[in-house]
Amino acid sequence: MNAFEALGLNEQLVQAVTDLGFETPSEIQQKAIPILLSGTTDFIGLAQTGTGKTAAFGLPLLQLIDPSQRHAQALVVCPTRELCLQITNDLEKFKKYSKNIFTEAVYGGASITMQIRNLKKGVQIVVATPGRLIDLIERKAIDLQQVKYVVLDEADEMLNMGFRDDIDFVLKNTINRESTWLFSATMPPEVRAISKNYMDSPKEVTVGKKNSGNANIDHQYFVVAQQHRFEALKRLIDFNPGMYGIIFTRTKADAQEISERLAKSGYEIEALHGDLTQQQRDKVMGRFRTKNLQLLIATDVAARGIDVDGVTHVINYELPDDMEVYTHRSGRTGRAGKTGICLSICHSKEIYKIKSLERMINAKFHKVDVPSGKEVCRKQFFHFMDTLMQADVSHGDYETFLPDLMEKFADVSKEEVLQRVAALEFNQFLKYYENAEDLNRNEMRGDRRQLNAKDTRNTGRTERSDFRRRDNGYTRLFINLGTKDGFYKASFLQFILDESNLKKEVLGKIDMREMNSWVEIDKAEAGRMINAIDGKRYNNRTIRMNEADGGYRRPADDNGSRDRKKSFAPRERRSFS
Ligand code: AMP
Repeated sequence: MNAFEALGLNEQLVQAVTDLGFETPSEIQQKAIPILLSGTTDFIGLAQTGTGKTAAFGLPLLQLIDPSQRHAQALVVCPTRELCLQITNDLEKFKKYSKNIFTEAVYGGASITMQIRNLKKGVQIVVATPGRLIDLIERKAIDLQQVKYVVLDEADEMLNMGFRDDIDFVLKNTINRESTWLFSATMPPEVRAISKNYMDSPKEVTVGKKNSGNANIDHQYFVVAQQHRFEALKRLIDFNPGMYGIIFTRTKADAQEISERLAKSGYEIEALHGDLTQQQRDKVMGRFRTKNLQLLIATDVAARGIDVDGVTHVINYELPDDMEVYTHRSGRTGRAGKTGICLSICHSKEIYKIKSLERMINAKFHKVDVPSGKEVCRKQFFHFMDTLMQADVSHGDYETFLPDLMEKFADVSKEEVLQRVAALEFNQFLKYYENAEDLNRNEMRGDRRQLNAKDTRNTGRTERSDFRRRDNGYTRLFINLGTKDGFYKASFLQFILDESNLKKEVLGKIDMREMNSWVEIDKAEAGRMINAIDGKRYNNRTIRMNEADGGYRRPADDNGSRDRKKSFAPRERRSFS
């Protein structure tokens, strides 16, 4: 029996999800669908976006609706127009084979007359944002009397946005409600109050830990001086050439200014904030969703409800004040089982926020150095070379040019051609980073000073290298696996821990590069990890793991003379792919 069928869903719905490529129900679907199909049980689902919660409530709703009755039977209330459209879209797909079920999205910023006209045609499921819903109720364009099911999606967001009274109004006026289903990523007291006031012994299901972040997200932070935030942002973008990301700022002014500065340098970025008209917003979102825009920079208010699949990075230009906002921001990546990275640019005074975030979302934050100019150039260079090697040469008549080309380049070596191609592409970029300064700042000034005082006396080394080489009970292991092997930090961590049967606590900093990585590990456990991993096979390659002797040496420092580097690079910015 198909796993969706086993949950009690009818044939038409099972066929529709099969068409969508859903093979097994997600955790929230597994837990929620059998309960919701009863139609009479109140329900609380604590689930982040990206967990498949839309199908978790959408499929039962479609099954419970009576298609022969052409009036509003179900109401889905959600915080934003974006989410409203997305839910309606998903419902359309799920009801592909279910006859005579009609849905309508009603939200602000679009013609109310048109929405009223559509509602009059006889719609059974209305998906609405709170403000517009109240407007329609007041105009008597929608009748709540016969609504049996009310779904509150992203309830915490709606309360954050000040829709408390509207939600109260809807729940008070749906007097024939048979069940209420509330979905929320977090459970602040205001959400709890709604369940107390309007729900009857709700069944509560949590996906992952309460208030916890998504386990697929690798949380990293960088400590820089206030005046270096912008430069650090630029480096992080440049260091991740395939990034498809959302950057969050606290103010509209920052979002606007940063997007203008980056766009001027050739980055594919646009800002999303409250000053845009609905039309401008849609345009920006359309471009981002279709990946015609690499980067979106947004304020929290403007970004509410943005649900785009495949976002690889979320960057916090500044940490939010409200810790729950962090969960929402980071939840824009690592969706649908994919891994994602959330990068936070911090000032040393904000470290305490990181510590409380770690406690709140029960996840480890990794302190990572802002890459040096050299590292950025190296990364861009190899990315470009990979793109070059992947270029499609199957079309076009390149072969006919070859004899002439061979003659022209008869006396030029492969190395020289490569250098020239690189120079054409990278000179400007390289120039920008030629004398780039180290942007990293101390994490804990007091501690560092003590360390330095001791170490500098003994060795005379710089502050930075002292920090790296300090004897902190760890040793560094080298391993010949890196991001090129398809690992992100989170998946890499999982891999080495699974293989060695060791606990996360024995590890320190992990430094991943394209081809290799370095892992800090408790000295006492290093042998165990090496024995477990060294010599094993991964993707038809033998894994090499050993103790990195003589302290840690960064790969970027080992490669290429300055002269050779100089010949790499022309535009300041390369496009992402
Ligand atoms: P949601 O949390 O509802 O926004 O869903 C996140 C993404 O996961 C959407 O792109 C869904 O189409 C997809 N999805 C939902 N359920 C499943 C499933 N059981 N199998 C595969 N993908 C799913």
